[in-house]
Amino acid sequence: MPKSHSSKPNKVNAKNEIRRRLTLRALLDNGPLSLTDLAKKTGMTLPVVSIIVSSLRRSRLVVDGSDGVASQVGRPPSIVKLNASAGFILGVDIGRLFTNFVVLDLGTNIVAQTRRKSVTLGNDIRVLSELEKEIRIVLTEAKASWDKVLGIGISLPGMVRGKQGLGETYFNFGEEPVTEILSKRFDKPVHLEHDLEAMAFGERWFGAARNIDNAVCINVGWGLGVGIVIDGKVYYGEDGYAGEFGHIQVVKNGELCYCGKKGCLETVASGRAVTRLAKEKISAGAKSLIMRDLVKKVEDIDAETVLKAAAKGDEFSIEILDEAAKYLGAGVAVLINLLNPAMVIFGGGIFTAAPYLLETVRVNALKHSLVPLGRNVKFVTSSLGNKAGALGAAAYLAEDLFDVERLNPSAYV
Ligand SMILES: [Zn+2]
Repeated sequence: MPKSHSSKPNKVNAKNEIRRRLTLRALLDNGPLSLTDLAKKTGMTLPVVSIIVSSLRRSRLVVDGSDGVASQVGRPPSIVKLNASAGFILGVDIGRLFTNFVVLDLGTNIVAQTRRKSVTLGNDIRVLSELEKEIRIVLTEAKASWDKVLGIGISLPGMVRGKQGLGETYFNFGEEPVTEILSKRFDKPVHLEHDLEAMAFGERWFGAARNIDNAVCINVGWGLGVGIVIDGKVYYGEDGYAGEFGHIQVVKNGELCYCGKKGCLETVASGRAVTRLAKEKISAGAKSLIMRDLVKKVEDIDAETVLKAAAKGDEFSIEILDEAAKYLGAGVAVLINLLNPAMVIFGGGIFTAAPYLLETVRVNALKHSLVPLGRNVKFVTSSLGNKAGALGAAAYLAEDLFDVERLNPSAYV
């Protein structure tokens, strides 16, 4: 299984690969199962299930184990389970300041997580050596041997065409997709994802959207973006660029955004906006605990400074954050009217530090959205914190490993 990305199986092998994945997926979704239940869940016959399970046992991907399933009188049923420690999946979420890593076992349990200073976001191929070095450090610390890594999922900011494995803004090395370069280098499958889609996928697999088919996941960090889940699937748009929520215009003739437009939502509701406003107002003479207690020079102010001051009760900082939350709420109302989500999930640095902003966002989102669409929406902060993207990136890889749909499941019977 680990090297399936490079092999071109013949028809019999293809059939068996589908059967193997169906079996592994059933065990991932249901936990330990008897062979009879496995046959029921997968639609295969008992003799076929027995053969597939024997082969999975030989490769140590499944093991015997009841995990507390009550034994019957007489001959106990043969119970098998995923051998979670048979392999690891690595998720890497490369941000502008930090890179978040998660190591999952084969049962998609988190065995390690860590946050390190970010690798260089650039288009010089040497950044891949930097990335490889970081990955090896993380795996060593997690005591996960390189040979047991089944694949690596990577999430990137900027413009990304994940389906083609191409980074555009960063990790753009010409025509050869970065996933292929890394797959060859690591001899393992590599999946690339845009950070917003990775976050949404992380929430879908591990977080608040686990049982929600229609949700929007809003990331408010230095920038602002949204990952969209529609009918249970992450929505990409035609080119994979969907989710640039931060660049809808909310202020006519407003501040110039780095994208070239004026008055984008990101210019008034993001870490970048909060930083700019605090600097401008303090330079103009506004009074705040920021200059008294937290920094010496106006240039040293960042979003974290404003959040820290607000936590100390600084009226100036609270007002800046409140204003940003009001704009964000109005923006969220657009998403509610357009997409009719059951849940809006807020993540990113700002909400991790100041979950109390949720109430202002909620009130303003309801104020500006249509009543029938807004009244049942749940507003929550992400329980995954800053690891949603890394978890999502790893989950894509897990999905690849356990995926059956793309292999034409009708061929297995
Ligand atoms: Zn913009």
